[in-house]
Amino acid sequence: MPVIAVVGALWGDEGKGHLVDYLSRDAEIVVRVQGGDNAGHTVVNEHGTFRMHLVPSGIFNPRTTCLIGAGTVVNPDTLLQELGELEAAGVDTGRLLISDRAHLVFPHHRRRDELEERGRGDRPLGTTRRGIGPAYSDKAARIGVRMGDLLHRDWLHRRLQQAHAALAARLRALGEEPPPLEELIERCETWRERLKDRIVDTIPLLQAAIRRDARVVLEGQLGAMRDLDWGIYPYVTSSNTLVGYAAVGAGIPPQAIREVIGVVKAFATAVGEGPLVTEVHGELAERLRRGGPPEGWEFGATTGRPRRCGWPDGVALRHAAWLNGFTALAVTKLDVLDGLEEIRLCVGYRLPSGEVLTHVPDTPYLEQATPVYERLPGWAGPTADARRWEDLPEAARRYLQRLAQLAEAPVRYVSVGPGRDQIIEVGP
Ligand code: GDP
Repeated sequence: MPVIAVVGALWGDEGKGHLVDYLSRDAEIVVRVQGGDNAGHTVVNEHGTFRMHLVPSGIFNPRTTCLIGAGTVVNPDTLLQELGELEAAGVDTGRLLISDRAHLVFPHHRRRDELEERGRGDRPLGTTRRGIGPAYSDKAARIGVRMGDLLHRDWLHRRLQQAHAALAARLRALGEEPPPLEELIERCETWRERLKDRIVDTIPLLQAAIRRDARVVLEGQLGAMRDLDWGIYPYVTSSNTLVGYAAVGAGIPPQAIREVIGVVKAFATAVGEGPLVTEVHGELAERLRRGGPPEGWEFGATTGRPRRCGWPDGVALRHAAWLNGFTALAVTKLDVLDGLEEIRLCVGYRLPSGEVLTHVPDTPYLEQATPVYERLPGWAGPTADARRWEDLPEAARRYLQRLAQLAEAPVRYVSVGPGRDQIIEVGP
């Protein structure tokens, strides 16, 4: 079976966790490939409703090994808390392993995130203040501390000394005194005790599974519009959300990935700052935000912030499809569009000069762009009970086919509710 990558096609929150949970039923390994505990992948299944921050959404299958990949940044405190919550709900977490190359997020990263975001005044980036950006910048500056460092006492102390010197300069520039070095050392000792058995070199595991042709699922975080290079910079995350990075973040050759599933919500949502060309306000926004059952409502899973909502953006979808080479789409939250008389699908961005673009330009252009809509008929619904393609109203199928045409990839999964049984598999 091939390696399947599941990546976000839009601004994140497309329902990747929901799909990964579904695909994990027969996966041998699921790997979270990038990002940190700023993720909030919602999974609704027979165990309950969970917001997965760091633990891969495959943890609910007792036969699946779950890896937190080298491309992630891990706050051990929140990870331990998440593991505790899963265990309290009766989920066995014994198969959760962490790459020795994954970087650590310390409390001082969070503090820096908060101070830096505050320093941006009325032009914030909209970060989740979880320290993810500062941890990735330390990684790039070669002063990060990694999971594997916890296992080597002398080496760890040397790494912490270096990190501490840089951190002290950073925090003082922001008007704060750094924590004493001893505090960092003690914290790492505690983390080592609690996590040492889970820290591994993930390469042999993945190599063996891929050589055996076992199913491996790669779980991405956020979406193409928040990609560090190709998203709406600077309103992006600090890692790459595209499939190219999924290979790096997991530690596998790119050509081992045979399927790339782009998860796309049936309408647009974004949490935080940055341009959202199809944004709507008022009654329609509220309807999209609170459509379907409450566990799927559009409030940030990590921060509780209400998500901005808009009409579906086919230009953003095409952008993501090109950059990722989707082999298939998974369209989620179709049920939320039930009852709308018409669907406005954005197929172009009009610039003040009158020029209409069908690709996503750089952010300064995007900020001035207005949407060019194609109008498609809506459907009455409800679709939540549909279990086969044929059960969907014809207008809904036409809408899905139009998305497939824009992405140049077939719709393979359609989700009509947050439950595991509400995913429809579409035949060829
Ligand atoms: P992720 O970060 O990509 O995993 O997405 P989130 O979990 O942040 O956001 C997706 C939200 O939509 C979650 O609350 C899901 O429970 C919910 N959801 C996913 N698919 C559907 C669907 O088909 N219909 C409805 N109504 N909700 C869905």
